[in-house]
Amino acid sequence: KGVVHKICAGQVILDLSSAVKELVEKSLDAGATSIEISLIDYGEESFQVVDDGCGISPNNFKVLALRHHTSKLAEFHDLQSLTMFGFRGEALSSLCSLGNLTIETRTKNEAVATLLTFDRSGLLIKEGKTARKIGTTVTVKKLFANLPVRSKEFHRNIRKEYGKLVSLLNAYALVAKGVRMVCSNTTGKNTKSVVLKTQGSGSLKDNIITVFGMDTFSCLEPISLCISGGCKLDGFLSKSGHGSGRYMSDRQFLFVNGRPVDMPKVGKIVNELYKGANSRQFPIAILDFTLPSRACDVNVTPARVIGQFNLGFILGKLEKDLFIVDQHAADE
Ligand code: ADP
Repeated sequence: KGVVHKICAGQVILDLSSAVKELVEKSLDAGATSIEISLIDYGEESFQVVDDGCGISPNNFKVLALRHHTSKLAEFHDLQSLTMFGFRGEALSSLCSLGNLTIETRTKNEAVATLLTFDRSGLLIKEGKTARKIGTTVTVKKLFANLPVRSKEFHRNIRKEYGKLVSLLNAYALVAKGVRMVCSNTTGKNTKSVVLKTQGSGSLKDNIITVFGMDTFSCLEPISLCISGGCKLDGFLSKSGHGSGRYMSDRQFLFVNGRPVDMPKVGKIVNELYKGANSRQFPIAILDFTLPSRACDVNVTPARVIGQFNLGFILGKLEKDLFIVDQHAADE
């Protein structure tokens, strides 16, 4: 019971981008090398995530979207040992209760794919054959439509929510190595626009060049630091004097263990430190913190772990290209 409680406490599908985030995370967990996100009317009508991952085994169809059923609990005896911060569980069951969920999926062991339809409670109500390559397609229609207040708010803020989602997908496109990503939006007039398209290169550097261009990349310098207790920081930051006069949230990305995270406090520290050294400029920052799984559990957020690092010390050394800081130095 304790475990289930912890999971429920953590699960959050608050808006369009957190809903899509859950699905993209699942695709990455499934080993996808291609993830296509298609929206209709900025996601208000529907959103769909198509991957070429391992697919879902028929054994799991019935329980897939049921509450308190999470396949990972069988694999991990306690949540402390989870290596993925993103783990919350119940994404599919939440999506069932918030919109209309269908899944098409096929593993390498099946000759054809299966189309699954779920009701609001997560019960599998229809199962049929369909054509599909190996992988999974999750479609959610009419998110929040059954919640009048939230639905109104969603409609009113749709452009903002869409912007937040595109920024999140840019974050994945930057950090996901070897994963092709495409995002498109089709509006009522049937005009489809591709807002993101990457081939999925093997390095953060090449991904930055694809997403932001060579000009932007040439104003960045790499950071690579060993912090303490097996923690690392890798990424790119504006070279000294190459920051921007204004803050650009769409040019700052923080990751923990290769997955995008929202850590406003850590972002603020980075800005303050950079501004201090560069007369009020804001940096482009693409920073990936590697934390060992024991450094965190569901109750201690990555931001808190990172907050304990001496970021001032670490980032204060930015004049050099590459630093190795051992535990002793970082603690001083
Ligand atoms: P949890 O991940 O906690 O088990 P979810 O509701 O998020 O809960 O997902 C249920 C299960 O569905 C996952 O554990 C995974 O096995 C499977 N699944 C979801 N999306 C995909 C996907 N894109 N590819 C393969 N399996 C998936």
